[in-house]
Amino acid sequence: MNIRENLESLCRTIPDHVKVIVVSKTQGPDAIREAYSAGHRFFGENKVQELTLKSSVLPCDIQWHFIGHLQTNKVKMILPFIHLIQSIDSMKLLKEVEKEAAKIGRVISCLLQLHIASEETKFGLDVHEVFQILESPEYKAMRNIRIKGLMGMATFTSDENLIRREFSSLSDNFNKIKATFFPSDDEFSELSMGMSGDYGIAIEEGSTMIRIGTAIFGERPNH
Ligand SMILES: *Cc1c(COP(=O)(O)O)cnc(C)c1O
Repeated sequence: MNIRENLESLCRTIPDHVKVIVVSKTQGPDAIREAYSAGHRFFGENKVQELTLKSSVLPCDIQWHFIGHLQTNKVKMILPFIHLIQSIDSMKLLKEVEKEAAKIGRVISCLLQLHIASEETKFGLDVHEVFQILESPEYKAMRNIRIKGLMGMATFTSDENLIRREFSSLSDNFNKIKATFFPSDDEFSELSMGMSGDYGIAIEEGSTMIRIGTAIFGERPNH
């Protein structure tokens, strides 16, 4: 697998407005440097410890995205350097980010993760919970959070129709939430959906940000 070639052929097939988040979980610093030297600056990780370690040894102009389930007790470890938390999946987590961000004087960009898959195992909010959060006085009082959009993961399946329906419903919800809560806020603009197996469908359904691991680095070893 040639990381640079994989990135080049990936980028040739997607429209310019779609950002590629290089999902570097389980990859070592050398593999990440290869993607970096091909010009990429957005990297996604799903484990706090692994991310903290990598961020300390890799170039500081990398924009790190957190894309996994984030435990509240680990929030403060990533807040000093994180660029975007894509996986806000509870009000409790949002409150913790607000509290810790205030302590260090940062405003943290976040996406709300919606549960769109038919699998129960995946994390995320349902639309009703998103409305509850965005309507709540606690959220409205938050000064250290910027909600930039939504993230979602489709069901792991070969049924393309199901995947398309899930992305399409996420896209509809994005438009609804935008119209209701962020009508004149240009910063609420990101719809993070699509992985190696389904990014083509995701882009057709309105994705602005795809999160790609396997198609760049090859299969991850099981461990
Ligand atoms: C691992 C992961 C990805 C990347 O998956 P690939 O199939 O390797 O492209 C994207 N998003 C999330 C949330 C992930 O955990």
